[in-house]
Amino acid sequence: MDQTPLSCPACGKTCQLHSRNLGTIAALECGRCAGLWLGNAAFDLLMEKAAEAGSQKLPLFVGQPIRPSSPGFDSATQQKSRYRPCPECEQLMWPRHYGRRSGVIIDVCRDHGIWFDADELPRILEWIRLGGLARAKDELTQNAEMARRRKQPAAGGTGRFVGGPHNRPDTELFSQAMGAFVTWLTRF
Ligand SMILES: [Zn+2]
Ligand SMILES: [Zn+2]
Repeated sequence: MDQTPLSCPACGKTCQLHSRNLGTIAALECGRCAGLWLGNAAFDLLMEKAAEAGSQKLPLFVGQPIRPSSPGFDSATQQKSRYRPCPECEQLMWPRHYGRRSGVIIDVCRDHGIWFDADELPRILEWIRLGGLARAKDELTQNAEMARRRKQPAAGGTGRFVGGPHNRPDTELFSQAMGAFVTWLTRF
């Protein structure tokens, strides 16, 4: 593992990220909190592999569970209670739900990449593998259709994120992100 000059968004300046390979994909990992930083290109590639895996078990994380490595590590202090800086540009990232029902909140820098706390990435990959991404894509299409008609309000509050201080309805950003996935999904 090679140390990089980039700081861990969760642990702060005193903690540098190390490079880590997930199969053929290069990611950066924090040795203290086991969080993972993926650049945009690496993330796209990983989503690609996750979707390709389909009903198969993802080999990526088998035998190498990602867990916080410090015995005294208190995950409660690492909750999403504050904004975190992007390790590359140090701008504060947006905490946001990945998809609508994955139950995972990630930190996003639009220009550079995505930060995952320990265990979040495997959960997202599992969610995608089980069809969550495909369902989200369907819902997005339906929402777009509804917005276009502008007749009835979206039933059941579809298209909105779960409430909370960090979850303002940034549906535009979400749509762009999903649009990128849709583009990617239909590329082959
Ligand atoms: Zn860390
Ligand atoms: Zn950035």
